[in-house]
Amino acid sequence: MLGGKLLPQTVFCQKCHSVLYEGADLTPPDEIIQKHDGKCPKCGKKLSSIPIEVEVKTIE
Ligand SMILES: [Zn+2]
Repeated sequence: MLGGKLLPQTVFCQKCHSVLYEGADLTPPDEIIQKHDGKCPKCGKKLSSIPIEVEVKTIE
């Protein structure tokens, strides 16, 4: 379902699984949440710092 290469850090919304952040640098969840005003831009789910899904992949 996800094509192409993933950036090292990808953060998904727990509810709708839209991508909230993709980046080469590891970013604290708090910072990502702040960028979205504390909620998912797609489904409006309130984001909290702990249950956010973070996936870190290494590109060789
Ligand atoms: Zn969402």
